[in-house]
Amino acid sequence: MSVNPKYFLEQRIILVDSLRRKGIKDERVLTAIEKVPREIFVPADQKDRAYIDNALPIECGQSISQPYTVAYMTELLDTFDGCKVLEIGTGSGYQCAILSVLGCEVFSIERIEFLHNKVKKIFANLNIKARLFLGDGSKGLPEFAPFDRIIVTAAAPDIPSSLINQLKIGGKLVIPVGSRNEQIMTLVIRSSTNKYEIIRKDSFRFVPLIGEEGWSNE
Ligand code: SAH
Repeated sequence: MSVNPKYFLEQRIILVDSLRRKGIKDERVLTAIEKVPREIFVPADQKDRAYIDNALPIECGQSISQPYTVAYMTELLDTFDGCKVLEIGTGSGYQCAILSVLGCEVFSIERIEFLHNKVKKIFANLNIKARLFLGDGSKGLPEFAPFDRIIVTAAAPDIPSSLINQLKIGGKLVIPVGSRNEQIMTLVIRSSTNKYEIIRKDSFRFVPLIGEEGWSNE
């Protein structure tokens, strides 16, 4: 599909305006969304829908999150330049690209090899620097811990304790927690070695986190 890149840029500006109207306030996050070409991260037959504010199906029965959800989670994550972030659920790579454009040092883990390999190629083409791993991210990435921020982009039945343990003191974890059908976006702030604060926000619906500290693969 050959569409004028200017067309996609215009679509992105319209999308950013709509996210602002839906309540996203962090201008850094909105600027990152304006910069990242979402059409590259969706399957070829979905490109004309890349800027509708909806989740879209990607390969292997997974999905690319709705732009509003990506913006909401990124705003809640509250990153800073040079922030060391662990993402669980690379999926299409879109959320990871947004974090990278925000100046974060991103470590992202995906359990499905096809998606992991596809994102590696996209990042090489777009010159996006992020460290991509293949495996079960429900236990985090202990060999690279601690992290300033952890973001889980799949639905968890509970907050995995290994993830809290891999946060720096003052670090934040954003994770959708609940049933397979509906989850509450949850912000966990590690205030000291053994203390953390849990803040529950709005409800969302994600594909399941499958793994040792997630759901079992039925
Ligand atoms: N952040 C992604 C969202 C993808 S959907 C994006 O921007 O497109 C969630 C992804 O989490 C899926 O690709 C799924 O395969 C992956 N996933 C589920 N359980 C996982 C686990 N235990 N470890 C790593 N990835 C997991």
